[in-house]
Amino acid sequence: MTYTDTMAKFAQLTEDEAVKILNLYDTGQLDRDRLITLLVGLLVVRADEAAQLADVALATQMSELRNQVVAPLGLTTDLDATAAQLEPEVEEAVDSDNRAYAVAVLGRALIMGTAQNAFHTGMQIHGVTTWKRVPNRGACEVCEDLASGLVSINDVMWTHKGCGCTQQPIK
Ligand SMILES: [Zn+2]
Repeated sequence: MTYTDTMAKFAQLTEDEAVKILNLYDTGQLDRDRLITLLVGLLVVRADEAAQLADVALATQMSELRNQVVAPLGLTTDLDATAAQLEPEVEEAVDSDNRAYAVAVLGRALIMGTAQNAFHTGMQIHGVTTWKRVPNRGACEVCEDLASGLVSINDVMWTHKGCGCTQQPIK
């Protein structure tokens, strides 16, 4: 499985888990405070795992690129900071008209955004100077177009909310 497919699957699993927790609330098994706590807790842990997945995938790609064993960097996220930032976003999603959809989108965007940021940071640390975008299956036209060229490490990756694209180091 490619890194892009792995992240797509991981984002989907996270979405599914979040929606399952939401179902407990919809069926009266959780109150709102407990729901928010559980969702934030789930998403914080999954975001951290997304950063670790990105780190390991990057190490594998760097090993192939450099033709030598390159170890993962041990990239993680700041759990407390992520939780503080997420809480109002989770509350907003839970209170929206279509909360299952809003929570699912929030989960997907968080997972992909965290992986994209961690991968970019990792490439900088590994001394990568050029990378390219790898669009996910069913990516939008803009992302497909952007994937045709090489990008400098100094350029920030353009993304839209829930963008499933990943990166690949070139040199
Ligand atoms: Zn994209």
